[in-house]
Amino acid sequence: MERLQKVIAHAGVASRRKAEQLILEGKVKVNGKVVTELGVKVGPQDKVEVNGIPIEREEPVYYLLYKPRGVISSVKDDKGRKVVTDFLKEVDKRVYPVGRLDYDTSGLLLLTNDGEFANLLMHPRYEIEKVYIAKVKGIPTREKLKQLERGIELEDGMTAPAKAKMLSFDKRKKTAIVELRIHEGRNRQVRRMFEAIGHEVLKLKRERYAFLDLKGLNPGEYRELSPHEVKQLR
Ligand code: URA
Repeated sequence: MERLQKVIAHAGVASRRKAEQLILEGKVKVNGKVVTELGVKVGPQDKVEVNGIPIEREEPVYYLLYKPRGVISSVKDDKGRKVVTDFLKEVDKRVYPVGRLDYDTSGLLLLTNDGEFANLLMHPRYEIEKVYIAKVKGIPTREKLKQLERGIELEDGMTAPAKAKMLSFDKRKKTAIVELRIHEGRNRQVRRMFEAIGHEVLKLKRERYAFLDLKGLNPGEYRELSPHEVKQLR
């Protein structure tokens, strides 16, 4: 049995607080009856409606995918390109990605059908650390890397403090491999940060997400998160 507001939030209909509001406003029915108290618990057989619409009640599932390059972080694509859910062939639940990686970015991507969990992780307040490995054009100076760490003025505002570390460089090819740790998740953020210091990103991979990494997985492979890992992320 789970609390009604939690069940509504899980279905991705609303945040938990908004779900409580909906209950108090008399917008929620359980088995055809309006419920206006917050303590009510419901089981898998109970029929829950919000504003007259039955909510989908699926068992929550959580996956970690090693997204290959050349794949859209979406559940479908108008142009018929490969999407991340194409790789979760044996998963019969309707999962969707937690945030996005660019088409050309590879690396760690979480997928779930738990709307509340996804919203939580994507909330900027959560400040989950993500570690990216970027191959860039040119060899950034120490000062340039410091700039990345202090913050970069992008068109959507200043970036939060980050960590940047040169892993290697190739003098002949004039490229470098840089590790960048950020806590934000703006659109194309890593590429834009490097562009701002004059180093185009040639290749990008997300290697870590919080305490999770890609160990044991090849591009295109996935695994289920353990209940313990899910708990740790919440
Ligand atoms: N930053 C980027 O620029 N691209 C990604 O895919 C993820 C973070």
